[in-house]
Amino acid sequence: MSTSHSLSGGCACGAVRYETNVNPVLMLNCHCRACQSASGSAYAPLVVVPKDGLRLLGELRYHRKIGDSGKAVERGFCPNCGSQVALKLERMPDVIALQAGSLADPAQYQPSMDIFTESAQPWDHMNPGSRKCQQGLAV
Ligand SMILES: [Zn+2]
Ligand SMILES: [Zn+2]
Repeated sequence: MSTSHSLSGGCACGAVRYETNVNPVLMLNCHCRACQSASGSAYAPLVVVPKDGLRLLGELRYHRKIGDSGKAVERGFCPNCGSQVALKLERMPDVIALQAGSLADPAQYQPSMDIFTESAQPWDHMNPGSRKCQQGLAV
């Protein structure tokens, strides 16, 4: 397994790329309804990194929506191929969350937490060893 913490990745068509050498702050699966409907899947696998350390090549289009917290969540996707790449949280302005499936090496994703588990679907499966939060993070 690689000991390097550098991460890179991008969208399906290659128009949007990113890279960072800064260690992720957190890796978690978000099972909230908004992540389900935006991804068309069971949850969003998110790599939270400091915004300052991220180099974004190409332009994402953002869909902005007010979340359950009353603060906006912006989901960044490639305008060409539609891949979700990154997510911005109004209440955590210093970080950006990368969609783990967009990583060049998705095996670098090692989630330690599951959040909004109360919204998880019966057909969703979670790691029994991860920390669980019924709702969001207390941040
Ligand atoms: Zn693309
Ligand atoms: Zn979510």
